[in-house]
Amino acid sequence: MSDHPRIPIAGVIGSPIAHSRSPALFRHWFQQYGVRGHYVPLDVAPDDLETVLRTLPKAGFVGVNVTIPHKIRALEIADVISDRAALIGAANTLIFRQDGKIHADNTDGYGFISNLKQYAPGWNASSGSAAVFGAGGAARAIVASLLETGAPEIRISNRTRARADALRAEFGARIVVYDWVQAGNMIEGATTIVNTTSLGMTGKQEFRVPLDALTPGATCCDLVYTPLKTKFLTEAEDAGCTIVDGLGMLLHQAVPGFERWFGHRPEVTDGLREAVLNA
Ligand code: NAP
Repeated sequence: MSDHPRIPIAGVIGSPIAHSRSPALFRHWFQQYGVRGHYVPLDVAPDDLETVLRTLPKAGFVGVNVTIPHKIRALEIADVISDRAALIGAANTLIFRQDGKIHADNTDGYGFISNLKQYAPGWNASSGSAAVFGAGGAARAIVASLLETGAPEIRISNRTRARADALRAEFGARIVVYDWVQAGNMIEGATTIVNTTSLGMTGKQEFRVPLDALTPGATCCDLVYTPLKTKFLTEAEDAGCTIVDGLGMLLHQAVPGFERWFGHRPEVTDGLREAVLNA
């Protein structure tokens, strides 16, 4: 090894990965805080994931973010797992420790809650029932974090009901499952409503759940951020709800990794949003 101090390197592993906004996000923070570091997108096939993860620390990597399709496998490969990653059953942030161990964390739930706190300041999870559309990977993090922050009841509706039933079996009695055809009824009286499906995303099917039962004043969040203002959010705003887009979650979930890898706790600002949107 050379005597020169290495500039720490982190990255994001997925496949495909070219669309990822994370490199622009980290670039903005490096510049804003004058932090020396690199952050690179890594397109890795599932069969190569373990070999790559065991090799990266030898090349100066201090950790990586993990995205589709590797979030579950990364947790299996890790040597040490945070409580919240274990609860969610997937990892999105890996820390390569000095002792050679891989530490897996999941900051998606943290990012989701921090986003709501920033952009819906009056929001309070315990104020009433939550309603969650979808029961995929992202929904697990949302449900876990809503339970942790005090939601008294979480109603879940998913096209494939068995996945929603599995969340109820795992997370317990505060979860109530609705058939997908009843998804519009599920929102009645709910104070927090979240779309965790990919419906409404550019290139995917439209979000068509009827929203007539929305309560004005409820907080509605869409995890989809392309487009930034989805049809769900537009209709929710028209119904008098507070709306929060999905970009803030992406930005906030990156905060713990940046702090851990580069030693500076960064902030999510309007300037960061602009930089990431314009990248
Ligand atoms: P996933 O595990 O593949 O789950 C996809 C979800 O969408 C499932 O509930 C699925 O239902 C539902 N869905 C897909 N097509 C549908 C259709 N035609 N009709 C009804 N439901 C449909 O994906 P994920 O990782 O949970 O991600 C979900 C979305 O969240 C994506 O748009 C992703 O980009 C976004 N996301 C955003 C952030 C952020 O930081 N803002 C973070 C994570 C994810 P079935 O179970 O029936 O297939």
